[in-house]
Amino acid sequence: MFEHLQNKISKALHILKGHNTITEINIASSLKEIGRALIDADVNHKIVRNFIQKVQETSIGKKVLTSLNPKQLITKIVYDELVFLMGEKNIGINLSKNPSIILICGLQGSGKTSFSSKLALFLMKKNKSPLLVSVDIHRPAAVDQLKLIAKKVNIPVFSLEKSKNVIEIVDQSILYAFKKKKNVIIIDTAGRLAIDRIMMKEIQKINQYSNPDEVLFVVDAMTGQDAINTAQSFSKVLNFDGIVITKLDGDCRGGVAITISSVIKKPIKFISNGEKIEDLEVFYPERIANRILG
Ligand code: GDP
Repeated sequence: MFEHLQNKISKALHILKGHNTITEINIASSLKEIGRALIDADVNHKIVRNFIQKVQETSIGKKVLTSLNPKQLITKIVYDELVFLMGEKNIGINLSKNPSIILICGLQGSGKTSFSSKLALFLMKKNKSPLLVSVDIHRPAAVDQLKLIAKKVNIPVFSLEKSKNVIEIVDQSILYAFKKKKNVIIIDTAGRLAIDRIMMKEIQKINQYSNPDEVLFVVDAMTGQDAINTAQSFSKVLNFDGIVITKLDGDCRGGVAITISSVIKKPIKFISNGEKIEDLEVFYPERIANRILG
């Protein structure tokens, strides 16, 4: 994750080594390289332009007020701007009800089912008692897949294989959760290859009926700008609470993680960085900025 960006930013900052004072001239080439590194990382041009402008303005404004040398100062300002761009702090998930309902949405193949199981394991480790629910009435294989992953970690899965009624499945799963004293219900919804009316109508129906405490939208980092466009289209139809970025292990650029939050105006809550069920991290902007800056 972020190796390329880290490498390039490190080289860009190295340009400032040995300089004792900040001037517009001596930071110019370093900032140009930082801008290039961000563009190579698949960060949108407009965001890069604003980012560099802000770093430049802040650094010139601070040059006399600090004891830091130019390299340290620019590193600090780039760090602050990266953290700001990624949403500043982690916003946890709302689990105040009993049972709390978490709705997982996203395109087919984005990593929803894997994430649902990862989240269930994560919550189990926090002493919650989760129930996984599959409402995919279109692909029976999706239910089997969820059961297969969940079985490995002993997490129960609720499904009604014969039902073609998503509301019936949700309804029954809530009753089942009460009966079995499960305090978090994670609903893995059906994804499609693109956001279309059928998918959205179904999700809206489930959303309205289940009144979830948390709606998470899952995007695949490897799809780059498409991930951001998909999240944007989705957010116009359903007001979700947070973003989950998957497959960051396969994306050496990292642009989606850096920019999606500022474009969509929703926080990133988790990142997934591998196929194993433990490969899940709570998203902390400071930690990612630290990784990028080495
Ligand atoms: P869904 O169709 O949205 O439910 O997607 P799946 O959960 O079935 O995931 C699709 C594929 O992506 C599967 O082969 C998963 O093992 C894989 N996958 C999911 N998350 C990650 C991840 O973070 N990293 C990697 N490398 N693969 C992942």
